[in-house]
Amino acid sequence: MLFPGKAKVMLITAKWKVVQYMRLFDRILGFISHALQGICIYFLQNYFKIWLFKITRMRKSSLVLNFYSLKAYMASTKPESCPERLRCEEFKRQAVENPRFKILEEALQKLGCPLNFKNIDCEPCDSTASAKFLSESGKVVICQNNVRTLADVENNLIHEAVHAHDWCKFKINLEDCRHIVCTEIRAANLSDDCNWLTEMARGHFNISKQHQLCTKRRAVLSASYFPACGSLENTKKVADEVFESCYRDRQPFHPDYWNSKG
Ligand SMILES: [Zn+2]
Repeated sequence: MLFPGKAKVMLITAKWKVVQYMRLFDRILGFISHALQGICIYFLQNYFKIWLFKITRMRKSSLVLNFYSLKAYMASTKPESCPERLRCEEFKRQAVENPRFKILEEALQKLGCPLNFKNIDCEPCDSTASAKFLSESGKVVICQNNVRTLADVENNLIHEAVHAHDWCKFKINLEDCRHIVCTEIRAANLSDDCNWLTEMARGHFNISKQHQLCTKRRAVLSASYFPACGSLENTKKVADEVFESCYRDRQPFHPDYWNSKG
């Protein structure tokens, strides 16, 4: 307090500067808000939820509105599909980084049947399916209305990538139930479809061979929808015949990959 007069002037100047910065900040916020209002009212809400989700999953996060989310919004024609589409696109972007998917992606590339970010689409589906492999185009569709979490998208993507691999490498014959059951066994086995906790949540608990039982049950259910398999009973019979060899077959994964997972 050596120079009260000078200190007072400095205080007034500082206050004035703070007010000026606040006004500028307010203007910037107003501009951003106006610009975004016309785009999609769900956009920021949804993006913020995804961002929070990313932080909780300890994944790399970014505050920058990413190109794919914006592209996904532009591609969605109905306003109500905006949140589903955005969520699916964001999960897809993260799911293609899954190490298990990466191994399948690399194998498919070598086989000459590439499956990557570009030919995986998020679309609404009529059925209750979570994803599907379209053999004619080699595409995978993630059913944006039937997936809720990143784990859902990761599992379904790996499941369909196994079908893509089998289709390309073994020339699956859709007239032969054994082929269909075998690829379904491999897809259920090599994805996380039969994760112990997930299976418990479905109400299935077995002391031993829980994974094998779950794999067979889910494969039979999926394959039974194909005309070549006919009835559920017939599909079960076929599954009993091929189960051991198809369950043991884990290509394109190296045995060390599974051993390292314990
Ligand atoms: Zn399947």
